[in-house]
Amino acid sequence: MMPQTVIFTTLLVASLLFFCWSVYRRFSLVCYGQPEDRLDQPARRLSEMFLYAFGQLRVLRKPFGLNHFVIFWSFMILALANGEFLVNGVFPSVSLALLPEGMHRVLLFAFDVVSLLTLFAIAFSFIRRLVVKPPYLDSLYVKGKSPEAFLILSFIALLMLAYFGLHGAMVALGTENDTAAMPISSLVGGALAAHPSLVSTVYSVSWWLHAFVLFAFICFLPHSKHMHILTAIPNCYFGALTWPATQPREKFEKGAVYGVGSVERFTWKDLFDSFSCTECGRCQAACPAAITGKPLNPRQIVHAIKTNLLENSHALREGRSGTLPLIGDEGEGTNTEEAIWACTTCGACMEACPVLIEQMPKIVKMRRHLVETESRFPEELLNLFENMEQRSNPWGIAPGERAKWVSTLPVKPFAAGETEYLLYVGCAGSFDSRAKQVTVALATVLNAAGVSWGILGKDEKCCGDSLRRLGNEYLFEKMALENVELFRERGVKKVITLCPHCLTTLKNDYRQYGLELEVVHQSELIAELIRSGRIKLDKKDDSLGRIAYHDPCYLGRHNDIFDAPRTLVQAATGTAAVEAERNGRNSFCCGAGGGRMWMEEFTGERVNHARVDELLAQKPDTICVACPYCMTMVEDGLKDKGAGQVRVRDVVEVLAEGLLRKNA
Ligand code: SF4
Ligand code: SF4
Ligand code: SF4
Repeated sequence: MMPQTVIFTTLLVASLLFFCWSVYRRFSLVCYGQPEDRLDQPARRLSEMFLYAFGQLRVLRKPFGLNHFVIFWSFMILALANGEFLVNGVFPSVSLALLPEGMHRVLLFAFDVVSLLTLFAIAFSFIRRLVVKPPYLDSLYVKGKSPEAFLILSFIALLMLAYFGLHGAMVALGTENDTAAMPISSLVGGALAAHPSLVSTVYSVSWWLHAFVLFAFICFLPHSKHMHILTAIPNCYFGALTWPATQPREKFEKGAVYGVGSVERFTWKDLFDSFSCTECGRCQAACPAAITGKPLNPRQIVHAIKTNLLENSHALREGRSGTLPLIGDEGEGTNTEEAIWACTTCGACMEACPVLIEQMPKIVKMRRHLVETESRFPEELLNLFENMEQRSNPWGIAPGERAKWVSTLPVKPFAAGETEYLLYVGCAGSFDSRAKQVTVALATVLNAAGVSWGILGKDEKCCGDSLRRLGNEYLFEKMALENVELFRERGVKKVITLCPHCLTTLKNDYRQYGLELEVVHQSELIAELIRSGRIKLDKKDDSLGRIAYHDPCYLGRHNDIFDAPRTLVQAATGTAAVEAERNGRNSFCCGAGGGRMWMEEFTGERVNHARVDELLAQKPDTICVACPYCMTMVEDGLKDKGAGQVRVRDVVEVLAEGLLRKNA
């Protein structure tokens, strides 16, 4: 064996052993997580994996995503070239040249072109970090401009340069015959041919450079954020198949621990997520809390889980608890309580993440720990929890007041067999003076369309949405069980809700309690009534002027309802609503979700101010919403901004006004 082959083989074996050991050390930590079934529906999982991991669907949504797409696919294609290089270094007689000639030519051409494309993509990545400097690449502990990021980019660039040096020298030496299949290497070879004394040096230097960079890459990979090269694809396979806004039930039994207060209480998938984060900052750029200066950053949450797991790994392997707290004072690997309470559970982070990481459920799991195990939560929530427990609504108003909104309308109680739909009014629709007007508008529209509906009146209870998102799972479960029993007793099968939070809780969360309901949001039902001709609006009405629509996260992102509210605006006014810069799936929260409706904002800009500014940029006369919480937040925001002349309407009010005018 040649000395070169011996050195190469020794280094390769050492690198591979180190790689395997590092990967094993990290992946074995994932086993400390709690069990979670992510093996169902393999066909669907495979298709998600192809779409998001190989298709880079979410990566491509951003203009710069194309650059990552090129790097990803170059990596996949060049894995073959690098594999050949490694095998050939040990067994010099083995190479891709053993393949049929046509196939080998295609590969040579692909390697040449892809290597050049990669060089351009890496140059763009450098420019982006050094010149463009998008702010979301940086966060407290995770830095897009970190030495690690530049090291990895440099590794890739060096591999490409070494590739061209090596193959160019081979062309110049005449050992690479198929020059037509290697246009770029041939150009390099042509240039080298002018300096014959240099050719063999370039060959040797490129060969060893290629080898050393590959070995360094193999060793460094599992210890860097580029571990995602290994984990992102399986992470997309194991991603949630349903939108994970609904958290799993907890088992309340003697001696049980609740929520997640230490890293090993997360599930294996939560831990795997943390190794799959590419640290791209897309979640951070989408997060209303991070954008408005709160101490929450979803990227930091995921990073903290990884750091905490690594830091505590020694203790976990010895069966002890880790010393670095998961929730505590600010520091790498630890989440602050302020960060955990700042989340509006809007889901923008999960929508943005290219590798399907579920940031928000991790936050709710930590909230559960704080509320249920530690009894530690912001003081302002105490009132809410007591009101919910004693009077089954957030305001603590007497249940007897629930049906007061009906004073002007004939409304029937719900009776199975007689009334088709239960109108689940919800707490806002029952008690909040502004939201009550929406309830009346809805009742008017339903009556006009001849829909058969009834209410539970004083027997209605809060659905418990805020409790669940705030982590008070014990109280939520109690209320959910009571509601499920009531719905069963009354024979409720079909429900209309005014509020997207009620919609998601009754439709998605109650399923965990064995209650399958057909739940529709008012906008969906009315849009259907318009489509089927049961509601006709011949005279279009433009008295509301220019209308901008704000997508409620719990209607849009959480329940995929984007078109129905827009249909109502269009049907009533004859004109489509104008869109805010962030809309639809990428809409920006009003700041009230996740129980934040009942909490003050003490840090940074108010989320509703940021949203209202964005909506005002469209110069609307009216802002339309489809959620009572959004209504409050947008109205408050407009008042604070001195824009009280801009009206706020629920989409059903717009439709009801259209109907009334038609009938006038
Ligand atoms: S759910 Fe919304 S508020 Fe919470 S971390 Fe994600 S983006 Fe931020
Ligand atoms: S969690 Fe997802 S979106 Fe956020 S930084 Fe990591 S990979 Fe990017
Ligand atoms: S209140 Fe409105 S915007 Fe905010 S989380 Fe709920 S639905 Fe989203």
